[in-house]
Amino acid sequence: MYSIPKDGDVVLAIRNVLARYKTIHSLRELKERVEQELNFGTGNNRVGEDRIRRLAIISGMAIVKVHTKSTGQDISISKCPVCASNLKASRNMTVYGKTVTIGYKCPECNYWTEKGDLRVPSRYEFTVRRGK
Ligand SMILES: [Zn+2]
Repeated sequence: MYSIPKDGDVVLAIRNVLARYKTIHSLRELKERVEQELNFGTGNNRVGEDRIRRLAIISGMAIVKVHTKSTGQDISISKCPVCASNLKASRNMTVYGKTVTIGYKCPECNYWTEKGDLRVPSRYEFTVRRGK
């Protein structure tokens, strides 16, 4: 059996981990360090990777760098696959004065994808946000 920690405890653990390590190079590493922090090496708190990633972003504790890879597939999405925020269209003006959507961007994290070629997150980097 294991227990599920509260959001506030997870956010605090993320803050402590980032304060100590400054930069974490993958979501798996962040999850391991956050679980260690929550467990003090002995407990059995478990936190899902999706939850840690979302909390790190929406709490403002971390600056997240998202590395993405192309799928080559024309799939449109309206929610950010990183933090579940609503995506905003990026538009360009054509020479004929029309606007065309060239891709989609997340206003919360720095995820972006091209129109006609869905990009999926492949790796994350978490850096401590200074002044928090
Ligand atoms: Zn996002």
